Amino acid sequence: MKIAIASGKGGTGKTMVSASLAISWDRPVTAVDLDVEEPNLHLFLKPVISGRIDAAMIVPQVDESKCTYCRECAELCQYKAISVFNRVMLCFPEMCHGCGGCMAVCPTGAITEGRRILGEIQWGEAGAIGFVTGRLRVGEAMSPPLIRQVIGHPAVSTAASQGADILFDAPPGVSCPAVNAVMESDLIVLVTEPTPFGAFDLRLAHQAFSPLGKQMGVIVNRAGLGNDEVYGFCRQAGLPILAEIPYDRAIAEAYANGAVIARSSNAMAELFKNLVQTLRGLDAPRSEARHA
Ligand code: SF4
Ligand code: SF4
Repeated sequence: MKIAIASGKGGTGKTMVSASLAISWDRPVTAVDLDVEEPNLHLFLKPVISGRIDAAMIVPQVDESKCTYCRECAELCQYKAISVFNRVMLCFPEMCHGCGGCMAVCPTGAITEGRRILGEIQWGEAGAIGFVTGRLRVGEAMSPPLIRQVIGHPAVSTAASQGADILFDAPPGVSCPAVNAVMESDLIVLVTEPTPFGAFDLRLAHQAFSPLGKQMGVIVNRAGLGNDEVYGFCRQAGLPILAEIPYDRAIAEAYANGAVIARSSNAMAELFKNLVQTLRGLDAPRSEARHA
């Protein structure tokens, strides 16, 4: 089972939920931090890192001495990462999405494969929990290619093929990075808070992820704060409330101290144990189909 823990906006407690789910999981599990712009799952899980690699993407490298300024590359590139004006060729690697099209169409072999470092991937263990994280290079704007590389990294794919469940801590928001992060999951858990802002962003997240056709459920963090708009929306959209984490000073203090809240009290431990079973229940039909 692959579960993405996502949220329409930052600050809802998504990473706190991811960490608590990971330590409460009752089977082999790998926690994957896909919030590559600001990865912080490691602050909760405190993994021992055993490996790292640079993550790079292919970008065009132009040998202008071979260029005939035919413009085929510029006309093909959907992202305007290559422009040709008369006898001037301009290449903007930071806008390149690495499709390789320009290299394929160039009739003179003027474009070859270059590399742009996107960031790095680290992996290791936090006790019995597998751990993988991506970290975007400072100044790099394009996080989706790194997110896809983290998801496809052997530390994730091998764990999944050996039967481990995978928890993806997705980036907040509803733009390309978040969509890329939830794409490979079986279930999407949306963490929200019962405020007008929470309801607004939950609505956006639901709209953004619905076309993916994945099962979704909601965790209400800071339950008891704010109004009931979130609950009304969940009823209307048919989104199950999977758990409610109370608005509680002790939880806020544990969180502020970098503690995993599932370890902060018996009640929290019980809440996350039940949440694991609820998620298993949601996945049961799919799991039966997989083993049929
Ligand atoms: S690799 Fe693709 S995205 Fe990048 S410059 Fe070439 S055509 Fe454009
Ligand atoms: S396709 Fe090749 S030859 Fe044509 S403009 Fe681009 S780099 Fe130059």
